Amino acid sequence: MTYKLNLKPNREKSLKRRHPWIFSSAVARVEGTPQSGDTVAVRDAEGQFLAWAAYSPASQIVARVWSWQETTPIDAVFFERRIRTAIAARVHPSIPPDTCRLVYGEADGLPGLIADRYGDTVVMQLASAGAERWREAIADALMTATGAARVYERSDLDVRELEGLPARVGVVRGDEPPQTIAIHEHDVKFLVDVRHGHKTGFYLDQRSNRHIVGKLARDRDMLNCFCYTGGFSLHALTEGAKSVTSIDSSGAALAWGARQAALNNLPVERAQWIEADVFKALRGLRDEGRSFDLIVLDPPKFAPTSAHAERAARGYKDINLLAFKLLRPGGLLATFSCSGGISDELFQKIVAGAALDAGVDAQVLRRFAQAPDHPVLLSFPESAYLKGLLCRVAGC
Ligand code: SAH
Repeated sequence: MTYKLNLKPNREKSLKRRHPWIFSSAVARVEGTPQSGDTVAVRDAEGQFLAWAAYSPASQIVARVWSWQETTPIDAVFFERRIRTAIAARVHPSIPPDTCRLVYGEADGLPGLIADRYGDTVVMQLASAGAERWREAIADALMTATGAARVYERSDLDVRELEGLPARVGVVRGDEPPQTIAIHEHDVKFLVDVRHGHKTGFYLDQRSNRHIVGKLARDRDMLNCFCYTGGFSLHALTEGAKSVTSIDSSGAALAWGARQAALNNLPVERAQWIEADVFKALRGLRDEGRSFDLIVLDPPKFAPTSAHAERAARGYKDINLLAFKLLRPGGLLATFSCSGGISDELFQKIVAGAALDAGVDAQVLRRFAQAPDHPVLLSFPESAYLKGLLCRVAGC
């Protein structure tokens, strides 16, 4: 039997623009008794077919679109095809095929599915009831489409709660992954722990930006805030930074960073790893009269949605203001926000306000975005989340 989700009058507009989310407030009536993850036919108030979608009764986003074609069956073949298409689209000069995001959810027509490749290991993350429902087919398709040795699951994200799904972590196909997986990012070697690392183990979205910022660090004193396992720091040391001070609140991440610096035969005496809250540490550095030529700010998501934007804006303003004060004349600030709830425009306004309050004149030299294996679907602007500015403060 076909389950049907009938919309209220005039609530089909966003779907006609191919935005793949259906909010519960737009639904007039559900026909049949679909369970979480079941496929439903979404129809407008006149009964016209709009899309096939995955039903998620626990969430405000009550359905997510799989396909706009009425003739497309949603079955295992559908998932294999979509996954193969996503992987084929990763052919790009700045996407290393053996270490990249293979599937980026809605942007690849697969809402709620993330799949990242680290060599022989594919890590999948299921964030929606629909993806959860097709877990077996997805795991099979990831194995056959990649030829990887294993698929490991890291479905331990907070958003699963909103979909009424429990956290799940472990091997799905193949054998246990090694304790650490070595990957290369340009000339730098990193070790990824897919079991315990953040997200699926590594922040692949910053790949291109780490390379660009690293090149700016030559002969400079750099401060890397929210460094995690030292992504920006290792690139900077590789490119000949004079010194790199890295701050994170996670002692384990810092120890991992120091280990990777040694692994790359980098001049470890130039690297300092500080376990601290960045908000406090920046004030401490200011009070000590320290200054730097290059500062990186790559904080965690302060605003997951626009509802959190105001509080998040205060956090961004605070750290950017302090960073501007710590920069030497002519110094560079690479400042990022991965908050979906903060637009590019708002972020630039916040950074401008921070420069003003810090009493510096600054120019934007370039804009940063997420790496191209995290593509932005034009009909789904939510898929653009990472933004950044490279600012230069005026010289004396
Ligand atoms: N730039 C990193 C990714 C940063 S992720 C890379 O390229 O890999 C954000 C980091 O901020 C995490 O490692 C987290 O441990 C850290 N963090 C979160 N809140 C913090 C705080 N208040 N002070 C210091 N570190 C914090």
